Amino acid sequence: MRSITTFDIQYAHRFYRFQGEAQYLHGHTGTLTIEVEDSVNPGVNMVFPCNEIKKTAWDVIRNFDHALILREDDPLLPAILGVYEKQGIKNGHKLNTMKGPAFSCELCTAHPDCRLVVTKETMTAEGMIKMVYELLKDKLNIAKITFVSGDNTASCEFPVSGTMDRCPLCGVSMKDGVCPKCGYRRK
Ligand SMILES: [Zn+2]
Ligand SMILES: [Zn+2]
Repeated sequence: MRSITTFDIQYAHRFYRFQGEAQYLHGHTGTLTIEVEDSVNPGVNMVFPCNEIKKTAWDVIRNFDHALILREDDPLLPAILGVYEKQGIKNGHKLNTMKGPAFSCELCTAHPDCRLVVTKETMTAEGMIKMVYELLKDKLNIAKITFVSGDNTASCEFPVSGTMDRCPLCGVSMKDGVCPKCGYRRK
């Protein structure tokens, strides 16, 4: 069965070299849906608590929220970093606190201090799904990701193999036989 969580992110991007309006800088509210598949954990009668999926995912995904997402070869990148530098906000600001841990994978690198994500590919709805899967595949049994952004929607299913060891009392993933949330120990 599946547990499903949905959340919104707000971001600015553009499709560098795309022949259309989207090559100009613009913004969206995007809706990301993550479906996690596993057996039903009999202790709590759920696959996985949705608020825990959200917490795990949001830790990473919030670096895309209120962020600028640009491709690594986009000439806007050095231009904007130059402005941020001059203004003294490139390396952070005391009110820029909604940051997740910086991440870097083959497809993207987050710079939370200046709310920037640099991507290898254009950040289309499809591109976002590829990045989210790459960033979260080792943390959640992701079966499907859907991303809606303006008129664009993309979705992709992923093969799920194996099951996660989950706490029978609170449902979160066990770490070495101990629940990191409630302290339950498997005998
Ligand atoms: Zn767009
Ligand atoms: Zn627990």
